[in-house]
Amino acid sequence: MQTLKLKRGEDRRLKAGHLWIFSNEVDTRATDFKNLVPGEEVLVRDCQGHVLGCATVNPHSLICARIHARSARPLDEELLSERLEQALSLRSALFAEPYYRLVYGEGDALPGLVIDRFGSHLTVQITTLAMEQRKEALRSVLHRLIRPESILWDNTVASRTLEGLALGTECEGPVPDSLDVPENDCVCTVPLLEGQKTGWFYDQRPNRRLMERLARGRDVLDAFSYVGGFGVVAGHAGAASVTFADASARALGYARDNLARNAPQTACTVLEGDAFDTLRRLHDEGRRFFVVSIDPPAFIKRRKDYKEGLVAYRRINALACSLVEDGGYLLTSSCSQALHVDDLRGCVAHACARQGLHPRLLHTGWQGPDHPIHCAMPETAYLKCLLVQISRQPQPNTRPAQAANV
Ligand code: SAH
Repeated sequence: MQTLKLKRGEDRRLKAGHLWIFSNEVDTRATDFKNLVPGEEVLVRDCQGHVLGCATVNPHSLICARIHARSARPLDEELLSERLEQALSLRSALFAEPYYRLVYGEGDALPGLVIDRFGSHLTVQITTLAMEQRKEALRSVLHRLIRPESILWDNTVASRTLEGLALGTECEGPVPDSLDVPENDCVCTVPLLEGQKTGWFYDQRPNRRLMERLARGRDVLDAFSYVGGFGVVAGHAGAASVTFADASARALGYARDNLARNAPQTACTVLEGDAFDTLRRLHDEGRRFFVVSIDPPAFIKRRKDYKEGLVAYRRINALACSLVEDGGYLLTSSCSQALHVDDLRGCVAHACARQGLHPRLLHTGWQGPDHPIHCAMPETAYLKCLLVQISRQPQPNTRPAQAANV
């Protein structure tokens, strides 16, 4: 195995458990960087020559190496099998039914790999060249461990281009157009292959459950609903009405059907269009809901979008706060890794201060346990969901409401 040597001082993060090496951290005088074969294993050494781990490389990528083992072990079928078995046994311990994210990249010590399991159907996302090169080994491990009926090789993740990989999808076996996903005592039909790959967001499972305590007999707004994840749990818990808002008519069609299936007694409204416009309109009409959930797509995809993204989070949270009844609840989510949980709390605080509301943070939720966070890699923690109770009564610490401030 070739050696990849780090510059002095660049070993600290790795010694603390992190798994990535950035190209500017490599000592290019002591490493034959240009001749490293993309996708191959190298031994990572600190400036004194001590081995820090075994990594696969891609010298053309900003993250030029990803550690998969602390000793000299190739990333071969045997190691893939070991890691997949560990991932599977964790999920089997956590969940009663085989519906979960089976592999979550570095969280499962499998850099470049994400697998969602829907019973006997799998969707696989490969995001590194090294993992792409080991696709056949991976395929054979999956067939041995899971015996899937179908595998959707979903190669549409944009970050593949950073590794020089092509985009597209590939179906192996009878990939269904849609299928049923059991979760939180509900069953939702989700599209898998209709035109574009979609699927189900398993990461919000524990946060959707918060609806159970809040929604009974109440009016609920599920904004950025997709196929109804939050609203369906609310309906099942006995909500009087659920209003879904999303830009996708197709997703809203599923949301309506999923609510009818799980909560036929709950009144359903779907509002198609940009959620900023929809929430503004509801505000202008003086509408209020006892529970408002907002779960937007990542407004900050890359660090350089931070400022612009933060403005969008502030705006949507301000609109959401304005729609909560006195004593009702806001469930606000962000899946932007770069948005810190304190930033999201700040968005709510800022909005409530301007509107003369009193927010009480009751709970902070994270991505579910089938998306295990690597404790040394903040990059693996991305989802946060705040449960905030909002009081409209004048409080000593709030300014009077300013109507124009939403
Ligand atoms: N809450 C969902 C997941 C939401 S995913 C769940 O629990 O499963 C984000 C959703 O936001 C997608 O359905 C997408 O169609 C929608 N979306 C993206 N941008 C939007 C916009 N500007 N207005 C309304 N919906 C939008």
